[in-house]
Amino acid sequence: MSNHQSGNASNKSVNKKVVLVLFHNDLRIEDNETLVKAATLAESNQGSLMLIYADFLADSFESKDSSQAYHFNEMGAARQQFLSESLADLDQSLQRLGNRLLYLSPSCLSKSHLSSDNVESATSPFTQLCQLIEQQQVTDICVSHTADYNQNKSYVALQSKYPQIIWHSQSTNTLFADLPTQDLPKSFTQFRKKVEASHDLLNADYEVAVSPMPKSLPPMPDALIGRSNYLFKALPFDGQAQQAYSFKGGETNAMIHLTNYFDSAAPRTYKTTRNALDDWTHSTKFSPWLANGCLSINTLLNRLRHYEREVIANESTYWIWFELLWREYFYWYAIEHGRNLFLFKGIGHQLPATRFDDQRLQQWQNGTTAYPIVNACMNQLKQTGYMSNRGRQIVASCFIHELGLDWRYGATYFEQHLIDYDVASNWGNWQYLAGVGADPRGCRQFNLNKQTQQYDPNGDFVRQWQGVVGQSG
Ligand code: FAD
Repeated sequence: MSNHQSGNASNKSVNKKVVLVLFHNDLRIEDNETLVKAATLAESNQGSLMLIYADFLADSFESKDSSQAYHFNEMGAARQQFLSESLADLDQSLQRLGNRLLYLSPSCLSKSHLSSDNVESATSPFTQLCQLIEQQQVTDICVSHTADYNQNKSYVALQSKYPQIIWHSQSTNTLFADLPTQDLPKSFTQFRKKVEASHDLLNADYEVAVSPMPKSLPPMPDALIGRSNYLFKALPFDGQAQQAYSFKGGETNAMIHLTNYFDSAAPRTYKTTRNALDDWTHSTKFSPWLANGCLSINTLLNRLRHYEREVIANESTYWIWFELLWREYFYWYAIEHGRNLFLFKGIGHQLPATRFDDQRLQQWQNGTTAYPIVNACMNQLKQTGYMSNRGRQIVASCFIHELGLDWRYGATYFEQHLIDYDVASNWGNWQYLAGVGADPRGCRQFNLNKQTQQYDPNGDFVRQWQGVVGQSG
């Protein structure tokens, strides 16, 4: 989708604007250029503002690669909970500013998200959205840039259905609004070197700019006030997911975690501890908030720069920036490769020598393979929605090499469960490990015994997550 597409809105220009924000992975009010833009537009002629989260996930999932029937039932409990908490927090913030979050129900989230008088729960979120656009005579749509192929497809579909609506698309998710290099380098190392040579944001003299938070928001359209059928309603949870972790969705919790992390000594040793399998302070744990947009990457970078100035700048603090560049690289990689992100052969020319096998897939998903370390990681993922980077590499390597499975099923399972699911980071990392992506060294296989000895020498992690050997192993 182009960043700014204009339709013919001349017949609407004398009327009040009805501005629609489609939230996606920008679930916050601070440093959210999309929200600022929408508020300014609506305010400019005393118009109204419709703030919507419509999850097109279920509608669009199959269309990634129509030749392959992926296994995907519904969003895992932990991911669902984190998302719901994030939306609830956003709704609270929007209420304080004088508006509300509207929620269009996808089939992969429970209907209890919606108030009981939702008459349109059987209709897809996309159809509901079209009905609202037409009923409310939307004049402008504001969205954040995204590397999510299917989300962008939904935007394109809306643009062609409603060419008269003016689109405004802002960068809210990445360090750079545009690709920071002339072309996307084939490897991360080349990308990093080029970025650091020309755009060294970590060491720049100036603060990274953040958007001001709106002091208040224009109201929602009159016709929607008092109509509860679209209002977001948080899911009641039984509290089972994420028991072992402090991950709680939402911008409020993201800011608390940001403060706690940089008030601690953890950043100064990050590089030496980041590979641990299971400790809250051993890596930053920013990923779920970043992926859902509860935390702005600019705000995080400014906090890191502040830590380097006021506390210490060492190899570990540099390495946090280094990992954030990986995230950035995969974002531009996903933009560049579009639908190829989901192809079996990835961005290469050769099909991998792996295949679909339902029994092995089940063993991997259920933590009943022959490898205790893999089983423990998979149990942790299912119960908490999180797994360390080391764990992800171990289970992905096992999936591809020991079990010989088609990597896309692994990526899809991660998509279902990870609370930090991010289309670019997930599919980009899976391609990389499957040898069909951005890894110049080709397919990497991890020695599972060595990994176990190095990262779980006393078996504590395997015991905690009950990584027993499966019967069929
Ligand atoms: P830290 O080690 O503290 O890193 C700081 C930040 O840098 C992270 O929050 C993240 O935003 C970024 N980052 C770190 N490593 C990577 C990486 N390899 N690729 C991209 N960004 C990185 N990360 C996601 O955010 N969403 C995903 O869906 C995802 N899927 C993955 C799938 C596989 C197979 C693998 C191997 C990695 C995946 N990652 C994904 C990357 C990485 O595992 C997580 O970002 C990291 O474990 C999150 O924990 P943290 O915030 O403590 O990371």
